[in-house]
Amino acid sequence: MNVEIPRAEPYDDATWWQADHPAWMQAVDTDGNKVKPSIRCNCGHWSGIGLHHVHADGTVTASFFHDANPHPEIGYAGGGCGWHVFLKLKDYEGGDFPPDPR
Ligand SMILES: [Zn+2]
Repeated sequence: MNVEIPRAEPYDDATWWQADHPAWMQAVDTDGNKVKPSIRCNCGHWSGIGLHHVHADGTVTASFFHDANPHPEIGYAGGGCGWHVFLKLKDYEGGDFPPDPR
């Protein structure tokens, strides 16, 4: 399934943990530089996507999977909701972010 998700405002208390409203957020580092977007899953949980590639047009590869199973090899504890989709970040203009395993 392909899902286009809207941009969320950083730290908006009203919607921050809202389920059934997947979204993305553009954070900046302490120098004001844009960093890789974070994703709000369909369950409301925010997560980073360090191993994904965010393309300049907002397409995210590979697919986003909030896995229920733990994957200790990448430091993932498990417990996800199982949402598995191909994401596109609507109105994204943060540039290209290749996968970064750190
Ligand atoms: Zn989830």
